[in-house]
Amino acid sequence: MNNKYELIYEGKAKKVFSHDHADKVIIEFKDDATAFNALKKAKFEGKGKLNCLISARIFEILKNKNIPSHFIELKNENTMIAHKIKIIPLEIVLRNTAYGSLCKQTTIEPGTNLVKPLIDIYLKNDELNDPLITKDRIELMNIISSKDLDLIIDLTLKINIILKNFFKDIQLQLVDFKLEFGYNFKNNIVLGDEISPDNCRLWDLNQNNDTIVSLDKDRFRNDLGGLIEAYSEINRRINDFI
Ligand code: UDP
Repeated sequence: MNNKYELIYEGKAKKVFSHDHADKVIIEFKDDATAFNALKKAKFEGKGKLNCLISARIFEILKNKNIPSHFIELKNENTMIAHKIKIIPLEIVLRNTAYGSLCKQTTIEPGTNLVKPLIDIYLKNDELNDPLITKDRIELMNIISSKDLDLIIDLTLKINIILKNFFKDIQLQLVDFKLEFGYNFKNNIVLGDEISPDNCRLWDLNQNNDTIVSLDKDRFRNDLGGLIEAYSEINRRINDFI
């Protein structure tokens, strides 16, 4: 990155730089992958680029359906320009199918289709290991008002309908995903972060039998191999469809 831009923040998968405009930032997607609160780490050449391109496409699809996000435009293949937002320290997970931590923490069998989408909210705090949090605890901690929390939940449910249908069109089952929201300079809530196979579980529907074929970060979490091939396949299907 051109050194006239100041590194404001570096996370596990992205770097955020300043922009000439005070209300914009430059987000660079890294090739690093982490899982289990960064206990497991690796680098996958090309992952940053794929996640940046996939996220950009998805933010555009959502924008066309009136879902506001921080995304403005791509700067290059692994960098996007976005509105500067104040991230709300909550991770909003929506599940259509039971998998991952839901099955570790309950008696629900992996692969169970949920009668209605389940929303699990986690406190974004690495030191505490991102614990599952309740509405009452969010209120108690004064993280956001209950009105804003309802708005975020409503947006997440709407995003699920749009994405579930879109992914189905490209033969992918949207199992679950994690969203982050923030306040823009007008203090409006917008979608932030990224939407990519790093934070969505996507299963291939192009299968003759019931085997689960993960085309997402589970390839890394569960040592399945072929992560870049899986992410490239998603990027290819998205581009072929649009
Ligand atoms: N997820 C994420 N970041 C996290 C935790 C989860 O993006 O720190 C995503 C994950 O990719 C999946 C969904 O949220 O699509 C649900 O993850 P889950 O709670 O099952 O946790 P995991 O099994 O990844 O520990």
